[in-house]
Amino acid sequence: MFTKILIANRGEIACRVAATARRMGVKTVAVYSEADAGAKHVAVCDEAVLIGPAAAKDSYLRGQKIIDVAKATGAQAIHPGYGFLSENAEFAEAVQAAGLVFIGPPGSSMRAMGSKSAAKQLMEGANVPLVPGYHGDEQDPAFLRQQADRIGYPVLLKASAGGGGKGMRVVERSEDFESALASCKREAISSFGDDKVLVEKYLIRPRHIEIQVFADSHGNCVYLHERDCSVQRRHQKVLEEAPAPGMPEDRRAAMGEAAVNAARAVGYVGAGTVEFIANQDGSFYFMEMNTRLQVEHPVTEMITGTDLVEWQLRVAFGEPLPKKQHELAIHGHAIEARVYAENPEKGFLPSIGTLRHMDAPRAVEFELGADGTNPAAVRVDSGVREGDAISPFYDPMIAKLIVWGADRTQALARLAQALGEFRIVGLATNIAFLKRLVEGEAFSSADLDTGLIERHGAALFPPAAPVPLRALALAALVLSEAGQAANESDPWSRPNGWRMNGDYRRTLSFADDYSAGQEGGAYRVGLTYRHDGWEIDLDGQRQRLELVKRDGAELSLRLGDTALHGCVRRDGALFHVFTGGRHFTLAYNDPMAHAGEAEAAGGRLTAPMPGKVVAVLVESGKIVAKGEPLVIMEAMKMEHTIAAPSDGLVEEVLYGVGDQVADGAPLLAFKAA
Ligand code: ADP
Repeated sequence: MFTKILIANRGEIACRVAATARRMGVKTVAVYSEADAGAKHVAVCDEAVLIGPAAAKDSYLRGQKIIDVAKATGAQAIHPGYGFLSENAEFAEAVQAAGLVFIGPPGSSMRAMGSKSAAKQLMEGANVPLVPGYHGDEQDPAFLRQQADRIGYPVLLKASAGGGGKGMRVVERSEDFESALASCKREAISSFGDDKVLVEKYLIRPRHIEIQVFADSHGNCVYLHERDCSVQRRHQKVLEEAPAPGMPEDRRAAMGEAAVNAARAVGYVGAGTVEFIANQDGSFYFMEMNTRLQVEHPVTEMITGTDLVEWQLRVAFGEPLPKKQHELAIHGHAIEARVYAENPEKGFLPSIGTLRHMDAPRAVEFELGADGTNPAAVRVDSGVREGDAISPFYDPMIAKLIVWGADRTQALARLAQALGEFRIVGLATNIAFLKRLVEGEAFSSADLDTGLIERHGAALFPPAAPVPLRALALAALVLSEAGQAANESDPWSRPNGWRMNGDYRRTLSFADDYSAGQEGGAYRVGLTYRHDGWEIDLDGQRQRLELVKRDGAELSLRLGDTALHGCVRRDGALFHVFTGGRHFTLAYNDPMAHAGEAEAAGGRLTAPMPGKVVAVLVESGKIVAKGEPLVIMEAMKMEHTIAAPSDGLVEEVLYGVGDQVADGAPLLAFKAA
């Protein structure tokens, strides 16, 4: 076996490859960009070498630099992960020419599968079923329209060099063909520098089913069954599972054999995935082949009890495949959910920021049991740790959550439970959305097709609901004396609201921001101390409130007759309340706070929370008096005035009206008089 390999990637896949290498006693070399100096993949590898600035083209895409690092560090092979250089035939060949091993297929296989239309022509010859369509070289618009008319509408136009759904256009009628073609070509040129297109029948309510294949250099090729990746948003996978619900044995074998034929047709070696699109009646067609390890490979590992990275290393080293086709049985059911730093309510836009706090579900890192099965029911593959930033340079993935169950029902229950155990503070995530998706009727009943998310938009994006009293009670408790543990029977020693005479009442004011474009609610929560304990009230409703136990951020309390558990994390003026598998973000409106006071330490006044500048009341060079308002920010529907902390000079105003500012960003340079 190799003694040292270089991992030409970052994030979770780099960590994933490193975990297997460590288990096999193979040393690892990480490469990293300036933005990743403190990244997890750098920490988990044995050595790490800086290869350039943050932008991928200056670092992770610098093939020659990476090859030089491999040679300098004595690595014998390069694992490309997925993305970056993983499907770059020139890179694979350059690695080989440098006397190193590329852990992946030969460049010729990548080239053969690189063009969607050329791949389809090859597949036609290998007896792999294709979607009815035209994928030849003739590109004359009138000819292509004739082909579309022949195929029958709706048709789908795809960029031949395409990927990531770019350039794809659905055409419903012959009259619309020309303009759709023009727009597909425009996007194809700008994304891939190649405007060749193909036309195919647009399937109604299709499923995306793909087959994991593996080939060695001795002529063996097997399939490790299917993954159903139908749940997509904008043609990108969100949930992936194996096996595919409702797959009959004979069709599984037929798809597996078609995939093996596809791999053999291009002289494949290593791990690959043949993607099919399937009709609801089960008929299936070749779509494309991904010549690398896929993001969703763990579900296959979980049901087959294999370590696919170990297989990759063995095959690259020249060993035969560890198992034969008949030894690859399916055991149970596995589902993967991709946890992203993104905002589903804002069209799934990535959310950039720092993971100020991150609890992941109780899980094991990838490992293989001695008997060849995966012992873990819950697995989390992640390339980030608490304190790390999700930057605009790379994919905003936080983690892959993979669960295994004896059957789909058990896997689903574990997935919903584990999603509820994530506690992430610092940026927006898709966790609540994933939970609604997993618990929703369509996914639980396996009514799958690629339009599932769009069709169930109403249920997946419910209107804002008021924050429940239990979440407010947890936040209020942490903010008030009621949250101090009362472990003494002596009232004088209690750090709570106990007063010798009369009651004590406080009102706490919160606002929530349910989601973009929806009005958050405002809540005035009353806390009253009576001679025999605390009471909470909201909108005239009163309940007794008692702290049962507090362990740091973890709280157990009694609200009326109900026992309640939760966790409250404070992030500036924001309170993140995690309870019942849900996450509520509450902004505390502190009447005593004079924003700006005690803030000017470094001569800079900073934003108390992420938000927007709505007014700038001073200009650079102005002399101001203590307490004079300088800037007004809006965050979570509330305005915050930043006032002068003392008499002094506004040296520079750093933002203008309408600017979006990050939490803690300096707003003005200020010099005290
Ligand atoms: P890309 O390489 O750009 O991601 P693919 O060919 O892999 O494009 O297709 C991506 C997704 O588009 C599929 O998973 C499926 O949801 C949808 N799709 C592709 N071809 C068809 C088709 N003929 N009919 C309906 N949907 C399709």
